[in-house]
Amino acid sequence: MATKRIVVITTGGTIAMKRDIHSQTIEPSASGKELIDSVPDIKQFADTELIEFANIDSSEMSPQMMFELSRLIRKQLARQDVDGIVITHGTDTLEETAYMIDLLHDSPKPVVLTAAMRSFDDPGTDVPTNLFAAVKVACADVCRGVGTMVVMNDEIHAAREVRKTYTSNVATLESPGYGPLGIVDEDHVIIYRQSLTREFLPAKKIEPKVMLLKMSAGDDGSLIKFAVKSGAKGLVIEGLGRGNLPTPAAEETIRAIKTNIPVVLTSRCFKGRVLGIYGGSGGGKKLHDAGIIYGGDLSGQKARIKLIVALGLVSQLTELKKIFERQMY
Ligand code: GLU
Repeated sequence: MATKRIVVITTGGTIAMKRDIHSQTIEPSASGKELIDSVPDIKQFADTELIEFANIDSSEMSPQMMFELSRLIRKQLARQDVDGIVITHGTDTLEETAYMIDLLHDSPKPVVLTAAMRSFDDPGTDVPTNLFAAVKVACADVCRGVGTMVVMNDEIHAAREVRKTYTSNVATLESPGYGPLGIVDEDHVIIYRQSLTREFLPAKKIEPKVMLLKMSAGDDGSLIKFAVKSGAKGLVIEGLGRGNLPTPAAEETIRAIKTNIPVVLTSRCFKGRVLGIYGGSGGGKKLHDAGIIYGGDLSGQKARIKLIVALGLVSQLTELKKIFERQMY
């Protein structure tokens, strides 16, 4: 007998795709009802209610759509009769949507995103397994207060930490440096740990014009210059190692900060925090002294989402610095 009420919100992704024999590509086509009906056993765990938000490849997901989706989720979470939410999504931008949703709500009810790497009609599809696992997690009392989770391949990851790591494999999700929060083992949901750096930013709007720039050896700063010229309201720079930049890129970054554009520094490394322990003209210390904001252990794409949300809440560099650096330094 189902005792929980779960709202399933579909947005598209491979989980809702089927092969088109003419184009020989996979395209968004499975409806939300088809998805839920493909796992009849869900009924043993939950009464589901379906909301079809979109049916797109997640490469088309924009910050504004993520924000609308977050608003919809908060509305559902506020309902007394709803116990949890499951969102289906493509894996390409799943980690960004999950993180924005996580930053924008503080409900203890489980919010779970899931996806698939093999299409709905693939003979070896991971659609039913992942959807079923996500519903189990959304129903699990042990997942209350854990924040927004991402469930795939029987692993439960924190929205803040998870990354897509493999272009094609079903074991694509990892939380580098941290590992999963827990697992789904048959009908059992186990949580081994929680992410203690979770934050709530009650923004009523966002600033989507934030650009992410990745550094490489010999970067001459021209992309940073272009980003400033094209009206970026914020920049995230995925720097080298501990948070260092080639000198010309560092000079261009400092120029950007002087024009009052908030610039957040992250690392292109998969694990660890940025910190200005290196001197020199492109060293993290000089950048921080000039006003760059440390992005902590966030990936570039996650720091961009955080800046997009934070700029909807505050605009002063000092306030942004507090939001980014309060827990970490
Ligand atoms: N292009 C797909 C997407 O919508 C990637 C694979 C997937 O959905 O998991 O993100």
